[in-house]
Amino acid sequence: MELKKQGFEEFDPAVVEEVKRNVLVTKVEEVKAWARTRSFWPLSFGLACCAIEMMATGAARYDLDRFGVIFRASPRHADLMIVAGTVTAKMAPVVKRLYDQMPEPKWVIAMGSCATCGGPYHKAYSVVNGVDKIIPVDVYIPGCPPTPPALLDGIEKLRVQIREEAKGKRRKKVGQRI
Ligand code: SF4
Repeated sequence: MELKKQGFEEFDPAVVEEVKRNVLVTKVEEVKAWARTRSFWPLSFGLACCAIEMMATGAARYDLDRFGVIFRASPRHADLMIVAGTVTAKMAPVVKRLYDQMPEPKWVIAMGSCATCGGPYHKAYSVVNGVDKIIPVDVYIPGCPPTPPALLDGIEKLRVQIREEAKGKRRKKVGQRI
């Protein structure tokens, strides 16, 4: 009945079964998104205490490597910036420069309340009230600090965004490039 519906009734059922099991039809954009979301290379840098949680996520207990997330020491090798910590006015130009040195496509996770909105230093003269004031952000992770499972959840949310974008849905980016 099912074979008739698909117009395969004149073929050998064994051949039809082989085709169903071995042929996959998809779009190049979706394959690229699948590859990208399975091999994030975050830039290895941290700004404050949230970076300790980021390092803990990369260490043996949570083991980011098993998700294909491998920290890179150069912005030119990285496609993901995890902003972990307080963005001070003094560090903001450096963060911006590192972001600019990363090749496209690239993504940003604001990890913790400091990177999201200034956190405990909100409105302090020396702190930027959220990294989205200087670079675009894809995912915000709340907490002071967020736990390693929260970072893993943020990375998973970014994966979903990228896959949705490959299917043609518009990407939500908050923030600005200056
Ligand atoms: S959000 Fe909390 S833990 Fe993270 S950098 Fe700011 S003060 Fe430190």
